[in-house]
Amino acid sequence: MKEMIISNLKEVHNRIETACKLSGRDASEVQLLLATKTVPADKIKIAIDAGETLLGENKMQELRDKDSDLKELNIERHFIGHLQTNKIKDVLKYVSCIQSLDRLNLAEELDKQLQKENRNLDVFIQVNTSFEESKFGLPPHEVISFIHEIKKYKTLKIKGLMTIGLLDVDKEKMQPSLRLLREIRDEIYNAKIDGIGELKLSMGMSQDLELAIAEGSNMVRIGTSIFGNRFLGKEIWNENIAE
Ligand SMILES: *Cc1c(COP(=O)(O)O)cnc(C)c1O
Repeated sequence: MKEMIISNLKEVHNRIETACKLSGRDASEVQLLLATKTVPADKIKIAIDAGETLLGENKMQELRDKDSDLKELNIERHFIGHLQTNKIKDVLKYVSCIQSLDRLNLAEELDKQLQKENRNLDVFIQVNTSFEESKFGLPPHEVISFIHEIKKYKTLKIKGLMTIGLLDVDKEKMQPSLRLLREIRDEIYNAKIDGIGELKLSMGMSQDLELAIAEGSNMVRIGTSIFGNRFLGKEIWNENIAE
């Protein structure tokens, strides 16, 4: 198991480097986030021992269950799943960033809790760039007005945009949803919104990592290619089904 994870990790880093080279980018521009849903802490630790520092979880329950094994380690944890407002307080115990900010009442409730705790939080705005009903995220045309609305929540530091691209065996079908996230970022830059600085793009998973990097991704979120198949017959990010 250990050798497998370590060699998978090398392979993923090679894929990132190759993809960066192909598009004339520096590999340091792309962070690797380990998508660790359903992966037990002992496997995650192997990757951390191998030098990984950035993890993403989809469920509060998993954050909590793995916390005692991971909390002493030098890592950063992000929340990348659909977040219900009644889980905010718990999730905030474990993460420094929420990548799935996708609606106003979530921003408002986050701000309330963060004010109570007297702290700030990095956030990514999740955008549904594939227009699939199974996915969460703001519709692309609402992102700019959303930013204007949530700017008033000073505890939320907007660090970027996140999307789960359309997955298909056909590259031609996957590319548009990734490209769209970059175009939305460009629109935000063009709108010159006060207080909005550099925005990172969190996109690319095991299947579409190369395409995402070619479209400008700054953070790829990889699970399967590192830890193996999750054996689920359903996609976990379709939380309508998963719960
Ligand atoms: C599971 C998951 C990933 C990783 O997907 P893989 O195909 O296993 O690499 C990335 N992002 C999110 C939001 C996920 O839920």
